Amino acid sequence: MKFNELGLSAELLRAVKEQGYETPTPIQREAIPHILAGHDILAGAQTGTGKTAGFTLPLLQLLKNHESGPRLPRALILTPTRELAAQVNESVQTYGKYCPVRTMEIYGGVSARPQITKIRRGVDVVIATPGRLLDHVRQGNIDLSRVEMFVLDEADRMLDMGFIRDIKQIIKELRTDRQNLLFSATFSKEIRDLANNLLNNPAEIQVATRNTTADRVEQLAYPVDKARKRELLAEMIGRGNWQQVLVFTRTKHGANRLAKQLNQDGITTDAIHGGKGQGARTRALRDFKAGKVRVLVATDIAARGLDIERLPHVVNYELPHVPEDYVHRIGRTARAGQDGTAVSLVCIDEKKLLQDIEKLLKRDIRKEYVPGYEVDTRIKADPIQKGRQRRQGGPRPAGKSPGGARRPAKNVGKNQRKRFSKSRRSSAS
Ligand code: AMP
Repeated sequence: MKFNELGLSAELLRAVKEQGYETPTPIQREAIPHILAGHDILAGAQTGTGKTAGFTLPLLQLLKNHESGPRLPRALILTPTRELAAQVNESVQTYGKYCPVRTMEIYGGVSARPQITKIRRGVDVVIATPGRLLDHVRQGNIDLSRVEMFVLDEADRMLDMGFIRDIKQIIKELRTDRQNLLFSATFSKEIRDLANNLLNNPAEIQVATRNTTADRVEQLAYPVDKARKRELLAEMIGRGNWQQVLVFTRTKHGANRLAKQLNQDGITTDAIHGGKGQGARTRALRDFKAGKVRVLVATDIAARGLDIERLPHVVNYELPHVPEDYVHRIGRTARAGQDGTAVSLVCIDEKKLLQDIEKLLKRDIRKEYVPGYEVDTRIKADPIQKGRQRRQGGPRPAGKSPGGARRPAKNVGKNQRKRFSKSRRSSAS
């Protein structure tokens, strides 16, 4: 199937052509005709599937079809993070290049003033995170009563982030005969409940198999002591000559600390997380994409939905509490036909988290270890629990300092890697 068979206007097809897209992706093939026909949509699609164009193109087309009246927002796209809002706005502008639409992004962490000015000037499409949008609603800065198309992007993440009440408040502001499009990578009971309340006889579309990881991603787990993770990571980056690495930590503090340490190791690194101002986050992402920064350390929330082309390496410096987040994290690599690796550094405290991930994936992740970084079997597990502050560095046997007794091996090539033996694994528990 070709793009010009989807019923899109010449202006949109021209913009698509300029992007170099040859054929629509599965989500685009399925979603675009339904959306153009005015149906509500419940779509299971992860980032990387082309879902943004899947809803943006028909949305632009429908706005074009009914131009009239004052310029109040007619389409609202809600996203969980500021970065995603900015990214989606970029897509709307790219695809709407030849359409007379005005778009804007609305999110917190930046001054509200310029946003208010822009709203007053008139806008057709608003891409927003829920909190700041609701502030504008409450202060009477924005009138959403003309919104006829409502998109919830990454709905599962929005619920994870506790946005459900804000979302419900916002929905009350919209006209009741609107079209609703809900996109989610996973379908929990909460998402189903939300979909049942929000959507009217929706077309259901599922493009990526639920909760499975991209086949192209090579996934490896390296059992290693907590206190030696940083050293091992620096070694892997150096020996492998990795030039663009996205590293995940569980906490903002952990992200900052790791970024600082890696910089001290001579590896240019920046961190991106919810505790940073928007300017710093945008800058970090731009520098990382441009190759000025080699490593970007991120928390799950900040990294969600980021579209970084050809990202070859994702590292789970710490495993996520929620197994689904692992799937989201490693979905950052092996995009658009590229291969990628996802490496997890797993300390004994995280054994249960790894097992939960393997259960979700319905398969084992291959264990490898680097000579010189063998786990110290005398260290007892202090299992990671959500909401509990972890001890820094972890218990260390007497007489050992970080990197003291066992130096890393010189080579970390495939030949040097050995299978992490079952006996070692069980003795470590
Ligand atoms: P998304 O899933 O919306 O984040 O899109 C992932 C990436 O796929 C983006 O970089 C898009 O520019 C790209 N993309 C979207 N549609 C197509 C297409 N039909 N052909 C090739 N690339 C596409």
